[in-house]
Amino acid sequence: TADVLLEGMGPEKLLTPVLTAFWDEPQSWTLETYRRHDGYQGLRKALQMPPDDVIALVKEAGLRGRGGAGFPTGMKWEFIPQGDGKPHYLVVNADESEPGTCKDIPLLFANPHALIEGIVIACHAIRSNHAFIYLRGEVVPVLRRLHHAVAEAYEAGYLGKDIQGSGFDLELTVHAGAGAYICGEETALLDSLEGRRGQPRLRPPFPAVAGLYACPTVVNNVESIASVPAILHKGKDWFRSMGSEKSPGFTLYSLSGHVARPGQYEAPLGITLRQLLDLSGGMRPGHRLKFWTPGGSSTPLLTDEHLDVPLDYEGVGAEGSMLGTKALQCFDETTCVVRAVTRWTEFYAHESCGKCTPCREGTYWLVQLLRDIEAGKGAMSDLDKLTDIADNINGKSFCALGDGAASPVFSSLTYFRDEYEQHITGQGCPFDPAKSTAWA
Ligand code: NAD
Ligand code: SF4
Repeated sequence: TADVLLEGMGPEKLLTPVLTAFWDEPQSWTLETYRRHDGYQGLRKALQMPPDDVIALVKEAGLRGRGGAGFPTGMKWEFIPQGDGKPHYLVVNADESEPGTCKDIPLLFANPHALIEGIVIACHAIRSNHAFIYLRGEVVPVLRRLHHAVAEAYEAGYLGKDIQGSGFDLELTVHAGAGAYICGEETALLDSLEGRRGQPRLRPPFPAVAGLYACPTVVNNVESIASVPAILHKGKDWFRSMGSEKSPGFTLYSLSGHVARPGQYEAPLGITLRQLLDLSGGMRPGHRLKFWTPGGSSTPLLTDEHLDVPLDYEGVGAEGSMLGTKALQCFDETTCVVRAVTRWTEFYAHESCGKCTPCREGTYWLVQLLRDIEAGKGAMSDLDKLTDIADNINGKSFCALGDGAASPVFSSLTYFRDEYEQHITGQGCPFDPAKSTAWA
């Protein structure tokens, strides 16, 4: 287990810099820097291997998707039918926009060649000759940097015809979205990439069977693909020497909120928030942790009772939450949980694509109730209404956005029902003396 692997380690020894190894070097994003750090060595090995062996290696390494769901990457590649006569596509989901999630954008900014190398390896494995990066449209500096890195890779023969003399051809297209959260849902992303309004498609069929232009398509997160070159270069046993048995390897944890040193911390899966806080100087001086999200706002909130929960898919899952994108937003005792949940719910209501009724109508009604409670105009019966509406969204919506919207409502009511009640009985927010009568 992670506990055994990590026993006796000091906080600083927990860091496993792979993707972040040279982010602090000037010009870290250039091909020259990347090559100096063994860049494109994994590709060299992969091109000498039959595609199925590359898939088997990634499967045996145990790499799980870093976009949130933790689906085994090698298994997803294996789903692509072979000999079907259709083109196969790889689409990299770089539409990172979950509140609190901020790992892929810095990774692309600082080390774009890790992704490009991973793309070439993955395409060789799934026998694809055209890959796409679907980038969140707002991040124009990252778009420029990606274009630059792709041009460098073409120039050096890592993309295009007959890559490194292997006979393998690959075109890579960088596409910028227009800033809709729902386009991060893989099938909405594919619709958007095809030029339509981005709305989720019914699954099954999963993209592996009918994805981009109805052809077999792998959709993978940026961090998942960028982790592949190191596995090829250093081997599956090295990768498995980190993390836990079912969640092996290193990963990026994005620490934000009321912490002393927010940022990206690259460490094994299975470490705990307590260990990450030790690494990052703890909560800001004089304050204590009140609640946190393990993986962005779609993952149920946890509290200071969960500081020692292993941050892997099993550990966080056992607490009724999800590891998600490992976006650890930490809030101290000065934060109003009702305000935080209201803000997140406003986000989901705004970003709901409108395709299905539970999410389209439900998120709107959640916002009305939460705003009333926050402003001191709520009634005790509103708490049951919140649960009822969230219940009618959760598991009854067309895509995961609806479930994500319900999750902070459920978990905040589980752990902080008394704080909701204080807003109602005190006719306002106890954290805002201007609104509250109870705390005057
Ligand atoms: P999911 O579990 O339904 O699917 C995960 C992946 O596995 C998908 O690519 C899917 O196509 C594939 N898959 C699953 N079953 C399959 C099958 N039987 N055959 C073939 N392929 C199969 O999860 P999801 O709905 O795609 O994503 C939800 C996750 O997204 C949440 O965990 C959330 O944390 C995360 N999320 C991330 C962001 C972000 O900004 N990175 C934003 C919102 C949500
Ligand atoms: Fe659209 Fe929300 Fe339904 Fe997803 S759950 S399809 S975002 S309305």
